[in-house]
Amino acid sequence: RLEIRNLVRSFSGRRVVDGVSLTVMPGQVTCLLGPSGCGKSTTLRMIAGIEKQDSGEIWVDGQLICDGTHRVPPEGRGIGLMFQDFALFPHLSVAGNVAYGLTGSARKARARVEELLQKVGMSAHIDAYPHELSGGEQQRVALARALAPRPRIMLMDEPFSGLDDRLRDDIRDETLDVLKAEGTAVLLVTHEPGEAMRMADEIALMRDGKIVQQGAPYNIYNAPVDKAAAAFFSDIN
Ligand code: ATP
Ligand code: MG
Repeated sequence: RLEIRNLVRSFSGRRVVDGVSLTVMPGQVTCLLGPSGCGKSTTLRMIAGIEKQDSGEIWVDGQLICDGTHRVPPEGRGIGLMFQDFALFPHLSVAGNVAYGLTGSARKARARVEELLQKVGMSAHIDAYPHELSGGEQQRVALARALAPRPRIMLMDEPFSGLDDRLRDDIRDETLDVLKAEGTAVLLVTHEPGEAMRMADEIALMRDGKIVQQGAPYNIYNAPVDKAAAAFFSDIN
């Protein structure tokens, strides 16, 4: 379970993230949804530990990961990342990429790699190299790689942009299936209300660094908090 409390970050005197609090439960997808520049990626980067917060707390499964004085480094947080500009290691095969973050015996690592490639439908490409794969196939491998060490939390920042519509739908559905089956708590960033409606158990609507409304997708869609929120949802296809 991921909990963030009152997270704040300013750049040159402007509060880009202005007191964000959220809880994401295991097996659930929470979407951080809002227009460009509202502070979504900055929030995610602070949770991942690759950006420092000015104040606020981050908790993972009841353990304090980060506050003003105490900081667990990114690799110690039990958090998986999948960002739009994900890159597979070009010099490693699919199997090598997925096994990259795994410790323990080679046999166990191999079993985990095979299990995940099966789940994302990439078993046939286990010995391929990234340049031999399409963008969508690379994305599936990236998902398998992010999940391999069994992160309790997965942070995803617009992971499906850059794919054509049909492929995106397929990969979204597969991603959800895999994450649910693994019981991962997912915080997914998007600026597309349609994507949030499709993927989220809960939506946190963000604007100007603040969460202005939070709830089930259906409730937010039907009862937007104000005119701006209504307008934001009106261009869903
Ligand atoms: P998008 O949907 O376009 O990705 P976002 O909600 O992810 O937007 P952020 O990347 O969090 O937005 O940026 C929020 C604001 O903070 C923007 O105005 C951005 O210019 C500013 N910002 C982000 N990182 C920095 C930085 N390192 N230095 C200065 N300003 C920054
Ligand atoms: Mg962003």
